[in-house]
Amino acid sequence: MFNNYQDIFFAVVGDVHGYIYTMIDLLQQWENSSNQQLAFILQVGDFEPHRHEADLATMDAPTKYRKLADFPDFYEQRAIFPWPIWFIGGNHEPYGFLDQFNTGTEITHNCYYLGRVGSLVLAGLKVVGVSGIYQEEKFHFDRPKVSQISSYSNKDYIIFTEAEIIQALGYKSTDILLLHDWPANIINPVDAEEFEQQCRSRCYYDLVGNEYAKMLVYELKPKLVVCSHLHKIYRNKISLTSGNLTDIFCLANVQSGADAIAIFHLSKTGKVTEFTQRKIESRR
Ligand SMILES: [Zn+2]
Repeated sequence: MFNNYQDIFFAVVGDVHGYIYTMIDLLQQWENSSNQQLAFILQVGDFEPHRHEADLATMDAPTKYRKLADFPDFYEQRAIFPWPIWFIGGNHEPYGFLDQFNTGTEITHNCYYLGRVGSLVLAGLKVVGVSGIYQEEKFHFDRPKVSQISSYSNKDYIIFTEAEIIQALGYKSTDILLLHDWPANIINPVDAEEFEQQCRSRCYYDLVGNEYAKMLVYELKPKLVVCSHLHKIYRNKISLTSGNLTDIFCLANVQSGADAIAIFHLSKTGKVTEFTQRKIESRR
């Protein structure tokens, strides 16, 4: 179906939390050390593109985390993204801004929001993204309209809904699936002890993630699934009912350095393989 694949490198990035210069540093270090160029960047939420204080007021986060950070430089074009970047929303976004564009838009030069549910083809790869996180008590209902955001809690805007999962399932076979939170049951039991020891508070490996993200993985059958949210790197391969394997990449946040990014090579035959990680240090 999509057989016009291009021979390129691309990157996927975990939570940015407004630290766009840190993200760019990490990616440019890879370009410099490998002598290769990235064609595009995919980012999986908690990007935090706040334009100004009014946007910050529509983010769900404790006061100490409400900071404007780097995006105003890019919005006002004092700085420019060196590559096109596509992102989905996480649970710490200025949804008063992003929900004006539920089907996605270019929010500033070279920087594209995929929308609440979105799909596009890049270099021949079909990419599907779903913004937000799962919350059982809100899943079956529509979110309030963005025009009413001042009358609701910001928490009412951070979730995805049943209707959006159904919409995403409609995209059918997919090459890359972008999610903010982890799919359920992706942690291999042999990794359980190490995973649980590294949790910031008590956690159980088999309770991580949500069933609807898992459903998307099994139904859309992507070659690659990327998620973030837990600020923790984890990689696994999941065997699908078709017998194919899906690569799962859960990434850390950019403030923790190289664990926040992964670089992939796409071949002309459509094969997606991870480029061997090189030592990359954050300079900030
Ligand atoms: Zn998150």
